[in-house]
Amino acid sequence: MIDPAVEQMLRKDPKSYVIPAEVVANVTATNTLEHALMVLSKVGYTRIPVLDADDHLQGLLPLAAITDQLLKVPGAAVEQLSNYTVADAMRPVEHWVDDPARLETILSYLVDEPFIPLIDEQQVFQGIITRREILKRVNYLAHNLDENYEVIPRQVLSDNID
Ligand code: AMP
Repeated sequence: MIDPAVEQMLRKDPKSYVIPAEVVANVTATNTLEHALMVLSKVGYTRIPVLDADDHLQGLLPLAAITDQLLKVPGAAVEQLSNYTVADAMRPVEHWVDDPARLETILSYLVDEPFIPLIDEQQVFQGIITRREILKRVNYLAHNLDENYEVIPRQVLSDNID
């Protein structure tokens, strides 16, 4: 369990640490891998969500999955990626949340993943929660804890009682 004081400070206004769907770069399963490579190179990220036409989250496309696909074809050049679609390379979404306030879950997922997708009850993609946004909160907590709470080491407390 996260310490309630820490959780209260990290979780203030949970929606504000979500990068909204409108500004998240994405591809569709029917896009060619050549197009997906261009998108990934342009935005400079190593993985982006795969959405369907109704914005449902279908999978994730890591850059490494594109290079894996390329390496499967002997002597393949980048142009040959136009023969494959995102569906050939995308990976399943293993972790997601439906509520940005589920901080304990989000923190544990972010240990291993660079971002966590946020979806609604209909699996419609709402945005992502990134390590960077959460680290900004941790940075705020680290610098402002004593403005909100009085933190006294247990040792000092027990010495005073003795
Ligand atoms: P960051 O914590 O900012 O480095 O972001 C972690 C990961 O989240 C990036 O490597 C991308 O995979 C993903 N990401 C962050 N912002 C966006 C965005 N606007 N569009 C698509 N993916 C993003």
